[in-house]
Amino acid sequence: MSDCLFCKIVNGIIPANKVLENDNFLAFRDISPQAPVHVLVIPKKHFEDISELSQKDLELSAGLMKTASEVARVENLDAGFRIVLNTGEDGGQTVQHIHAHVLGGRGLTWPPG
Ligand code: 5GP
Ligand code: ZN
Repeated sequence: MSDCLFCKIVNGIIPANKVLENDNFLAFRDISPQAPVHVLVIPKKHFEDISELSQKDLELSAGLMKTASEVARVENLDAGFRIVLNTGEDGGQTVQHIHAHVLGGRGLTWPPG
């Protein structure tokens, strides 16, 4: 996936502000934060979206949620947070490498736009 933006971040070709990293996942700050804390969590391996990931690797799907929760913990989001998986065109997905947004640090409104 040489033309994938997030694969380039995984491979260090494009820099990112890392929050945490483990064997299978990387978490880094969103370049255009929508909340005081806005972190993206991605598997290092390329999958397009949650549909593909959940069909091909349930363990990695669970690991994504676990890593997102760890981000909330290290970012001290004790008052609450939101994990978002924008998927496909209607879901507003703009980068075709699955990523979980972890948002927090303020009261978040509902429903989203
Ligand atoms: P999506 O719209 O696909 O759910 O989310 C993509 C996110 O990636 C957006 O929130 C956008 O701000 C973020 N983003 C796009 N390009 C970059 C980049 O080069 N670096 C970082 N850190 N975030 C990016
Ligand atoms: Zn990728």
